[in-house]
Amino acid sequence: MSDAQYMDETLLKGTFQEIRSAQRILVISHIRPDGDAVGSLIGLGLSLQDLDKEVQMVLSDGIPGIFRHLPGSDQIQKQAIGNFDLTMVVDCSDLTRIGDVLTGKPVPDVNLDHHPTNTKFARYNLVDDTAVATAEMLAEYLPKFGFPISNQVAEALLFGMITDTLGFRTNNMTPKAMKIAAKLMEAGGNLPELYQRGLLTRSFEGARYWGVGLSNLERDGRIIWTSLSLDDRRSVGYPGRDDADLINFLSTIDEIDVVIIFVEQGDGHVKVSWRSQPVYDVSQVASIFDGGGHSAAAGATIKGDLKNIQENVITTTKTMLGLMKDST
Ligand code: AMP
Ligand code: MN
Ligand code: MN
Repeated sequence: MSDAQYMDETLLKGTFQEIRSAQRILVISHIRPDGDAVGSLIGLGLSLQDLDKEVQMVLSDGIPGIFRHLPGSDQIQKQAIGNFDLTMVVDCSDLTRIGDVLTGKPVPDVNLDHHPTNTKFARYNLVDDTAVATAEMLAEYLPKFGFPISNQVAEALLFGMITDTLGFRTNNMTPKAMKIAAKLMEAGGNLPELYQRGLLTRSFEGARYWGVGLSNLERDGRIIWTSLSLDDRRSVGYPGRDDADLINFLSTIDEIDVVIIFVEQGDGHVKVSWRSQPVYDVSQVASIFDGGGHSAAAGATIKGDLKNIQENVITTTKTMLGLMKDST
């Protein structure tokens, strides 16, 4: 990333002073939460509670079953209740990502995130696209400003780092991230257990769902894609609206530059996920469809039917990748 953003120390200090002086704090993360959303939400929420603050942790979609092993996950609510001195949004590149949590109060106070496509929607925008996870940023900032990292906070933040980096193997990994992860282990984070739960364990239904996705797999040159319809989901009894991480498996296929998955949502929308090899920035493609993400991992939620969206997205992706190739 050539235009990497590093954190402005004055901004950072000012933000954490505001956090310290607030008493009632709302913390929010994104719809269809991943491990970094949940880990950052809980890690931050529990650390604030350790300073006797009143905290509500909110995920518009609630907490998926696969994350319920994390201590503190039982506190997560689907809606915010009452008034707050301070609202913090973690791991969200734009405000639509939080769902319908902030309908009455559109401008949050703090936006803490690592997506290069972040739209800086808050009063204080702490955005560092060199961080491998929002949880990495929190693991750096919280102790720096005197916010405690208990055993449980360390577990949550290490979980966020492990999951967003697919076990420290994404191409944005840094020595700094390894050092921060080591500190989280020293503070009580159980790396092998979190790794197992976050990246390896899957349900029987999830495995069968992979089977359907794999049998629908198609290829054109160095691009592959598959789709998962509502019927596919029903036929195997998979309860989620996601791809059960199939995309990360498809990304291991050799001699492929781009992987795309289409998941029918059941509300007239299709969730599209892209993964790419370095050189190709799929967040640019996702942005065309009002999505976003990182260079090598991006997503968008598009209105319309599965077949049309599939055709449109594949054509657009091929065209844009062709353009990118010419410029490199
Ligand atoms: P996913 O394909 O859902 O695993 O997402 C890959 C990356 O793209 C993650 O960093 C997400 O935060 C981001 N992303 C996914 N969906 C969207 C969206 N609708 N808008 C913006 N960013 C997204
Ligand atoms: Mn996330
Ligand atoms: Mn993240």
